[in-house]
Amino acid sequence: MAETSNLIQSTQKVLHKALDMLGYDEGMYDLIKEPSRVLTVRIPVRMDDGSVQVFTGYRAQHSDAAGPTKGGIRFHPDVDRDEVIALSMWMTLKAGIVNLPYGGGKGGVICNPKELSQREIEGIARGYIRAISQFVGPLKDIPAPDVYTNAQVMSWMLDEYSMKHNDNPLEFITGKPLALGGSKGRNTATAMGAVICVKKALEKRNIKMEDARVVVQGFGNAGSFISKILFDAGAKIVGVSRSTRALYHKDGIDIDYIIENKDKGIDAEALGVEVLTNEELLESECDILIPAAIANQITVGNAHDIKADIIVEAANGPTTEEATEILTERGKLLVPDVLASAGGVTVSYFEWVQNKTGYYWEEDEIQELLEEKMSKSFDEIYDFHDARQVDMRLAAYVVGIRKTAEAIRYRNWA
Ligand code: GLU
Repeated sequence: MAETSNLIQSTQKVLHKALDMLGYDEGMYDLIKEPSRVLTVRIPVRMDDGSVQVFTGYRAQHSDAAGPTKGGIRFHPDVDRDEVIALSMWMTLKAGIVNLPYGGGKGGVICNPKELSQREIEGIARGYIRAISQFVGPLKDIPAPDVYTNAQVMSWMLDEYSMKHNDNPLEFITGKPLALGGSKGRNTATAMGAVICVKKALEKRNIKMEDARVVVQGFGNAGSFISKILFDAGAKIVGVSRSTRALYHKDGIDIDYIIENKDKGIDAEALGVEVLTNEELLESECDILIPAAIANQITVGNAHDIKADIIVEAANGPTTEEATEILTERGKLLVPDVLASAGGVTVSYFEWVQNKTGYYWEEDEIQELLEEKMSKSFDEIYDFHDARQVDMRLAAYVVGIRKTAEAIRYRNWA
């Protein structure tokens, strides 16, 4: 059988097993296996050269049984409908895992922000919100940033929604700048969530932070903050990468130097580090591997060669289902994406609560609440995996889908 790199199919497979374990019938699976709504929109934008370009966008709302749907919007040339659908299902799982009062949603627009002006990006952001505005809202579906979108894009989206609805509901969208009702700690939240999982996993394996050799694949928002936080905590970051190449040194790399010089270009020779391909980096010598880049990186092709004892998935979908089985058989501790990347939506929830109440928390309060929620979720999933002898991904799906399935049962939808 071909390896399930199809994100929807592999998600459905694990979801089916999770619902079986929870004792639900086919009717429940039939409802949950796909989003309850997927919108496709066409967005006309006047470009800087005077022409009009039409962009295609999507918004998938997986299930609003347990509360409004919630999830980010990505602007990327590779966005496609199936990917947005799978990502919306993962948002339901993330919200369930950290016990937030939401279901999952996700959006995307096919575009390449690297080739667009700020004015053109604003046009896409506003046009997208106009197109979906009837179907979203603070108690319906709450967007947030994702790949290549940020606090500025969220601001334009909030402004467009406010004008359309003659209102100013800051809680419509999260990941906003502080001046517009954003939350302290939201910027680093995804990375912090992954770091909390790293700490918990190290404890389980009796490895001290100072002795940990870490490889981080990807140096975007998540990867760069994860590297920096772990480096400051005393870990040895032996490998880092961007899409073009990876750097490795067995005694650790100076992450402050990398951050400072990443836009100027890093002279690997002067730094005395080895240059590897991304494929080689995944198989390099380390204790913890943190894929924080793109999907389908660990496959049957390399799962047997992964040396790390702990894999913390900070990206969405970096390991295929078959590779998960191989890693589990090899005794590796895999912290799945739906748990390891749930820090972002958790602090988004704090932002939404702060907007609704009008009372704003300090950074240390946010960090404490995040740590508490993530640690509890990690323990719950780890204990389930241990007690029932199932892999960590299946355990996370069981914990993640429980609330939505129960809400569906109470509403008598299945
Ligand atoms: N885009 C982030 C994620 O995929 C955050 C979503 C949110 O904050 O709602 O988890």
